[in-house]
Amino acid sequence: MAETKTDTSTEASEPTCIRIFDTTLRDGEQSPGATLNLQEKLKIAQQLALLGVDVIEGGFPITSVGDFEAVRQIGQSVDGPIVAGLARAVPADIDRAGEALRGCPRPRIHVFCATSKVHREHKLRKAIDEIIRISIESVKQARQYVDDVEFSPEDGSRTELEILRDITAAVVEAGATTVNIPDTVGFAVPSEYGEIFRYLRQQLPQLDAKDVYLSAHCHNDLGLAVSNSLAAVANGARQVECTINGIGERAGNAALEEIVMALRTRRDYYNRFTTRINTKRIYPVSRMVSTFTGLHVQRNKAVVGENAFAHEAGIHQDGVIKFRGTYEIMDPRDIGVPESKLVLGKHSGRHALRQRLAELGFELDAEMLEKVYTAFKDLADKKKDVYDDDIEAIVDDLLQQGRSLWELVRFQVISGTGVISTATVELTDTTGERRMEAATGDGPIDAIYSAMQKITNVPLEVEDFETRSVTAGKEAQGEVSIQGRHNDRKVKGRGLSTDVVEAAAKAYLSAINRIKTVEDRKQAAAALNGNGGATAP
Ligand code: MN
Repeated sequence: MAETKTDTSTEASEPTCIRIFDTTLRDGEQSPGATLNLQEKLKIAQQLALLGVDVIEGGFPITSVGDFEAVRQIGQSVDGPIVAGLARAVPADIDRAGEALRGCPRPRIHVFCATSKVHREHKLRKAIDEIIRISIESVKQARQYVDDVEFSPEDGSRTELEILRDITAAVVEAGATTVNIPDTVGFAVPSEYGEIFRYLRQQLPQLDAKDVYLSAHCHNDLGLAVSNSLAAVANGARQVECTINGIGERAGNAALEEIVMALRTRRDYYNRFTTRINTKRIYPVSRMVSTFTGLHVQRNKAVVGENAFAHEAGIHQDGVIKFRGTYEIMDPRDIGVPESKLVLGKHSGRHALRQRLAELGFELDAEMLEKVYTAFKDLADKKKDVYDDDIEAIVDDLLQQGRSLWELVRFQVISGTGVISTATVELTDTTGERRMEAATGDGPIDAIYSAMQKITNVPLEVEDFETRSVTAGKEAQGEVSIQGRHNDRKVKGRGLSTDVVEAAAKAYLSAINRIKTVEDRKQAAAALNGNGGATAP
């Protein structure tokens, strides 16, 4: 597609289409506590394609069999976007990425090598000439596999401008088609970060001549990831790397939904730019990522947070009732946020449920629909009014269960004042075998957790326990989120039920299942080779 590049806002040409490079499945999955299995990654990738992202970074193939398979299967099954695999500037990494992308219709290898002084001196222990030489060779090697090669000078925002210029010129000469300048440690501020892009475009006319894409990749350590990304766009970046819900290493990456909605809501200001994102798909994919990773979206999170469109102050409510535009700059429907209204009750049929699910962004197969219907009927028996949030919660819960290794069969607790809390729990493992244990504890939940620990034999120390109701009313569904520690690793779990004790039991089990997923993956990785210590931009 021919894209006009506009340096000045006075030029009245077609707006530049900013490429949205989604790294939820790579950088996002590096979030502490988040792990995704292959099925989850494939489901998210399909949603990302429907959302309209231009590039999906599926993983870092050399690091594990799981990442290799994710890149391979996304590359072969997902229609539309370019699929990227990450590689260090190391021959084995590039070979592995090339292998993972074999058969992918739109493959990209993303090579990175650190360039900042602190990384040169303390991590790589190499001089810049050597780094440039390795980078050139790596890009050439990647070009033997694919025509689309991205290069990232890791810690780019802390690299001297002249060095960034020289390495960019060198890798473009070697065949890189996108050069990404990562703010790996979230240190940059907007004007300074934007200046890097202005400088590179001014110094290197070959970028325009060869139609090379400059790209932004920002971390949110100072809360500036989105601002920095927008500053880069205003100064000539034509690709932005981001994640759903802003998940990622440490404080996370720039949030896709915030960048896209800033460009869209402020078209009056950013009229030179557009994206291919179908914004109505934002909310469903945000929910899916939150469910699969176990990373809650904070209530006041921009665009997708629960309170993003809630008006509390009386004067605001009055204004919004008279005219939404008084206090509302975005229409929640544009993001695909369903209006939470009373929809279904006990007498609603499958058809009504399927229709409502479709409106909520869930397209389920017949088997899954039947499961949702059964759970819905159960819930409608317990509570009169079933809201959209309840239905979403049921689907989220079932999606989690669908991949469960351990499943809850039943439990019984005895608890009260002056009574030793005692729990009896029965679970099934993957083979379908039932196992039962009893334990005492400091309260009913503690007793259940002790019994589960006996059955599963997985040590898990619960550090944080949070409960909230999904909808209003006495019979509302309760959601329990826990954060625990397994050896040295943080792990999260989530469970849902109208019975908060049962929700707590499910949350614990989902954490146990997550630990199992990670361990399976580690074993697979160890079986491949002893490749450790791979960091990423
Ligand atoms: Mn990163």
